[in-house]
Amino acid sequence: MKFPNLKFIDDEIAVLKNENRLLKPRVLESAQEPVAIIDGKKIINLTSNNYLALANDPRVKKAAIKAIEKYGAGSAAVRTIIGTMSLHIELEKKFAAFKHAESAILFQSGFTSNTAVCQSLMSSENDLLISDELNHASIIDGARLAKSTRKIYPHKDMKALKEILESKESINARRKMIVTDGVFSMDGDIAPLYEIARLASGYGAFVMVDDAHASGVIGKQGRGTVDYFNLHGKVEIQIGTLSKAFAAVGGYAATTQNLRDYLGSVARPFLFSSSQPPSVAATCLAVLDILLNDDSILKRLWDNANFFKEEMKKAGFDIGQSQTPITPIMAGDTDKAVKFSNMLFEEGVFALSIGYPTVPRGKERLRTIITAGHTFNDLETAVKKFKKSGKALGII
Ligand SMILES: *Cc1c(COP(=O)(O)O)cnc(C)c1O
Repeated sequence: MKFPNLKFIDDEIAVLKNENRLLKPRVLESAQEPVAIIDGKKIINLTSNNYLALANDPRVKKAAIKAIEKYGAGSAAVRTIIGTMSLHIELEKKFAAFKHAESAILFQSGFTSNTAVCQSLMSSENDLLISDELNHASIIDGARLAKSTRKIYPHKDMKALKEILESKESINARRKMIVTDGVFSMDGDIAPLYEIARLASGYGAFVMVDDAHASGVIGKQGRGTVDYFNLHGKVEIQIGTLSKAFAAVGGYAATTQNLRDYLGSVARPFLFSSSQPPSVAATCLAVLDILLNDDSILKRLWDNANFFKEEMKKAGFDIGQSQTPITPIMAGDTDKAVKFSNMLFEEGVFALSIGYPTVPRGKERLRTIITAGHTFNDLETAVKKFKKSGKALGII
């Protein structure tokens, strides 16, 4: 198709191609399983966020089907019109309890949860939003939508955070919010939340933690970073996603009743974008129920992750600062990362290469996530293939 006024896009595409940044995602042709069919090939899948391996669980699917039969396929409205269904209320209540919070509010995704909270609470230029430099893109976009001033501190640098809190801008600010990922999505390291909460309370700031990669993964029964650091009642806002360990799609903020009601009256994604389909809410409820009643899944997740990380370290790979099942495997540069990923794919292992701008130049890597569903045999095979390709490319 030819639209002369879109000629500029052809030029943009040429730039992306030239920089190796034109994305052509591989296609999943089976369920999101630990061993899946990707681009026509049966492959060990080390790339999904399906931490608990519940995305294709028969109990979860049954709950979703039952919800469709009872409540239909879609909600066909935003929450504030007539899109609030009893399943949403039940999910909010159960997530508030899961997070030991007074209340919770659902959004359509983790992404919109972050933009909703940042935009709603940081609404004046006299407000100050303080953010870790490696926070997720949705926090960065939330900060852009906010009217507040923004200050970024170097990754997990508590001295720098303290300096910001002591600055004139901070002292004069109307409100200040410190925002951090709970588990950082590219490196798998954990935020120093204890220290962040302590500093926040000392300087009159409140904290929002984004537990997208922490909920269902760390803390007792997967309750997240606040639980991991035993900070119940000390972190004002816990954000999470229902799209990773919870195997569906959606997001939430667990917080006080008043803040929940405020977001439910002003947050733009809540007011202007329709609610989760009932089957999706039912999926999340089923996953939560399984998580709370079966400790063996989390144990398998961590046994698997620890096993894989140990084996990869023994093989001589640089796996960065990971403290969670997210395991980066450093490749050195974009070219090597892409070749590494392609070689592994030929060998039957899917580990996606991640390059600039998702990670800084020089930190290009393969990023793997180990799930509760992998067998030791899958992981042993994967390590063998990593060694073979890593040696061929001079990475180890
Ligand atoms: C994945 C992710 C999100 C986005 O969650 P979605 O539900 O997929 O929109 C937000 N924050 C972090 C830290 C994430 O890793």
